[in-house]
Amino acid sequence: MPQTVESHDACCKIPTVACPCPVCGNKGRKVTALTLDHHVPGPLREKIGNDAAFCLNPACDVVYCNPAGFTIKKGQTALPVTIKDAGDDVFVCYCFEHRRGDLRRDLAANGTTDIPERIKQGVKEGRCDCERKNPQGACCLGNVANAIKEIQSGLKRL
Ligand SMILES: [Zn+2]
Repeated sequence: MPQTVESHDACCKIPTVACPCPVCGNKGRKVTALTLDHHVPGPLREKIGNDAAFCLNPACDVVYCNPAGFTIKKGQTALPVTIKDAGDDVFVCYCFEHRRGDLRRDLAANGTTDIPERIKQGVKEGRCDCERKNPQGACCLGNVANAIKEIQSGLKRL
């Protein structure tokens, strides 16, 4: 069903916006109210407003920022954020609830993992909900691929 995959790809192509992160200066990816409602707790949700971006720099503690310079940092969101937190209990896929530790376990045991294929299958079946469930408001597959690479290079060093 390539058609479904294409329509899903659209959600991964949310443009980066020229609203730089006030801390690191990196561009952010625009997020929607749906994403913010799900990931930002009460009073902070009001302060950030609806015009906000996700800071794509893994080294920066800012998760969301708005043009007024208000930021929501790592630790202030409802869940730990994949690219901001290297912990094994952090989700790499929020829709189907795969954690970094699940990837590590598969890779250590088998040298490979079928988690990306399982995610793609779920996407094909229209069961993903990235805009709401992923703090980045977009598809997780890029994050999953990066996490696999990081784990593999760590295993090689052992
Ligand atoms: Zn930043």
